[in-house]
Amino acid sequence: MMGIIIMTGIALIASIILVNIEAYVNQKDALEEDFLKLLPGLNCGACGFGSCSGMAKAMMENPENYKRCRPLRGDALREMEAFLKQKNLVK
Ligand code: SF4
Repeated sequence: MMGIIIMTGIALIASIILVNIEAYVNQKDALEEDFLKLLPGLNCGACGFGSCSGMAKAMMENPENYKRCRPLRGDALREMEAFLKQKNLVK
């Protein structure tokens, strides 16, 4: 009987941990998608990351990488900066 209670407790704790890990991964995927939507989408490679999706991935490591996107200008640049500030990803 005690074994069943212990195993149930372990399963419950493991499921809570897995749910939290999944939520964290989904949150990171959503942020990368947001970065990609805010980039110009030219896939010119001028940033050095090969494509806009490469840049979005690089921004997950360092959000300041957006500054390496030369085509990102004007309203699109201001929109990116406002987004990053809103998320507290840049100063
Ligand atoms: S420089 Fe900008 S537009 Fe060109 S691939 Fe990089 S992120 Fe995309």
